[in-house]
Amino acid sequence: MPQFAWISRPDGPTGFGLAFTNRLGGVSRPPFDSLNLGNSSHDDPAAVELNLERLRRRLGLDHLVGVAQHHGRTVWSPDPVGPLAAVTAAGAKADALVSGRPGVGLLIRVADCLPVLLVDRRRRLVAAAHAGRVGLLGGVLEATVADLRRRGADQVEAWIGPHVCAACYEVPAEMAEAAWRRLPACRASSASGTPAIDLAGGAVAILAGLGCRVQRQDPCTVERDDLFSYRRDGAASGRLGAVVWLAGAGQSA
Ligand SMILES: [Zn+2]
Repeated sequence: MPQFAWISRPDGPTGFGLAFTNRLGGVSRPPFDSLNLGNSSHDDPAAVELNLERLRRRLGLDHLVGVAQHHGRTVWSPDPVGPLAAVTAAGAKADALVSGRPGVGLLIRVADCLPVLLVDRRRRLVAAAHAGRVGLLGGVLEATVADLRRRGADQVEAWIGPHVCAACYEVPAEMAEAAWRRLPACRASSASGTPAIDLAGGAVAILAGLGCRVQRQDPCTVERDDLFSYRRDGAASGRLGAVVWLAGAGQSA
């Protein structure tokens, strides 16, 4: 049964849910053991599909919808209501999803990049964004919040999930300086004192600047054995999932 680094289930029929998976409780074999949700790895696609289906059931969702992430800033929505498969592993090419449709889990997949889940409780809107270094600096969070606002959101709350921490995210000096110029709040030093990037620091600054309340549930993927990390394991790394959904409709949980 899929396990979680952190989960908050809906507190009622009009509530919302948030979940960040860990690598436990799936069917993938080593080195992707075991809850690999990534479609970009060399894992057996049938195992990944079964992991996604198990996650959908565990969360009590009618649908679990992912996108083909490419470090951009495109926002995609499964609304308005149309036919959706129970599990859509890779739909549109996008790095964020927005929905107001109950029972549909929006899935972002990461292994060090920073996942952000967003909710407007009153307007009943949810969103998920994939913010690695490139996406964060490229404006994926701004694009996601702007899309929510176009749909009427005015009180957006955000949750940051597991990703590589600043101490573990050493990068070449030139890359760090370019990032710091663009987004001063991501300036950091690694554990060994070399230039590094603080993805969460940068994301918090962007989201707070957009008027969002931000919470962090973000252990370091590199340091924790129960999380997937591309930086640590390279091509042998699976992908973690971040899912947000609105309760209601045909939802069974
Ligand atoms: Zn770390």
